[in-house]
Amino acid sequence: MAGSKVLVLGGGFGGVQAAIEARASLDSSHEVTIVDKNRVPHLCGMNPLLIVGERDTDKTGRSLGRLANRGINFVEANIDLIDTANQQVATSEGTLDYDYLVVALGAAYDWDAVPGARNAYSFYDFEYARHLRRRISRLKRGKIVIAAAKPPYKCPPAPLETAMMINWWARKKGIRKDIDISVYIPEPGPLGVAGKEASMRVRKALDQRGIELVTAAGVTEVSAKGREASFADGSSTSADIIATIPVHKIPDIVAESGIANGKPWVPVNNKTLETSASNVFAIGDVNVVPSGDFAIPKAGVFAAGQGTKVGEIIASRIKGSDEPEPYDGVGFCYMAYSGGRSATVGGEFLTDGGPQTVLTEPTVSGMKAKDRFERDWRNFKI
Ligand SMILES: Cc1cc2nc3c(=O)[nH]c(=O)nc-3n(C[C@H](O)[C@H](O)[C@H](O)COP(=O)(O)OP(=O)(O)OC[C@H]3O[C@@H](n4cnc5c(N)ncnc54)[C@H](O)[C@@H]3O)c2cc1C
Repeated sequence: MAGSKVLVLGGGFGGVQAAIEARASLDSSHEVTIVDKNRVPHLCGMNPLLIVGERDTDKTGRSLGRLANRGINFVEANIDLIDTANQQVATSEGTLDYDYLVVALGAAYDWDAVPGARNAYSFYDFEYARHLRRRISRLKRGKIVIAAAKPPYKCPPAPLETAMMINWWARKKGIRKDIDISVYIPEPGPLGVAGKEASMRVRKALDQRGIELVTAAGVTEVSAKGREASFADGSSTSADIIATIPVHKIPDIVAESGIANGKPWVPVNNKTLETSASNVFAIGDVNVVPSGDFAIPKAGVFAAGQGTKVGEIIASRIKGSDEPEPYDGVGFCYMAYSGGRSATVGGEFLTDGGPQTVLTEPTVSGMKAKDRFERDWRNFKI
């Protein structure tokens, strides 16, 4: 009997772990292939440290070509069309067919949803982050505004972490008294998914560091020169640096494939992460997995965990073995408060009654664990 073809679209957190898990469980008669338009994706989680010079720009990527060592084919190509009826995917390098498909294409950014956002800075993309890093390195005094547009966005702690990293950087440079830092978020409070007590503690941490937090105030417009911003609460501000978090959306090719059933994100079976199309799975930022009044956050740790689970499920279906345990929705993210200390926030998201999460205190060992996480990512361990 011919081997099966497992095709993974997207070589980010989720896609890589799905491919690694499937490959490790299957013999060489079966093919595992990843397609990504970028040979070297970057770890966005490093951006809050990268922009203040705490990470090197040439140490934030990993080459998907290295997956060949593990028996995984890598195709560097733009994916143009997903055709689940014919089990085919059209790419700039030709058409690929599959028996099992994993859609791990992440979230796309709609830079035009907030007029003028393209004129502002950002740290939600590697190139934008490099640009912001250069600007921050020249700043001696002035105001920095971090402004999220609307949920959901990747890594909800990221704007808060970034504000605290800028605070730490300015203190280290001895210019903190000359720098104002404000964070505008669309939610009624920071880290709502972690509960009221955690939210209060984050507010306090920002307050203690002299960082202004404005809630229920998603950014709605940025001026042509990128120096003024307006917000959903009717307020506006001017600043030397405005860094926005763009509106996130499902990639067009995923919407056009029909697997999202017209919804903003791909609905999946929360136990198997399978879409309404049989043997087509959607993992990571591209999907929505409800959790009480919230959803599992768009974060790499969850994408990776979902990838591992889907890799197991696909291998078990190919081998005809028992279906693995259902997906557990467990994961946590790091949130650095400075260059030397990091907290974690996360927990279980698929328990009855919604998320059961904990925000830990920032510690030196937390920062060491965050550093290890980054190293593990570069070595494909996560
Ligand atoms: C500033 C910031 C800080 C963050 N911090 C953390 C953190 O501390 N911890 C954490 O867990 N998460 C963090 N995240 C979130 C994390 O980066 C994402 O949640 C994670 O990358 C999602 O993984 P994914 O596999 O779903 O998608 P992605 O990692 O986005 O991968 C999708 C891949 O699909 C490819 N692709 C998309 N469209 C096409 C196409 N048409 N053709 C070919 N290839 C395509 C892309 O090139 C990409 O490589 C952070 C994000 C940001 C922006």
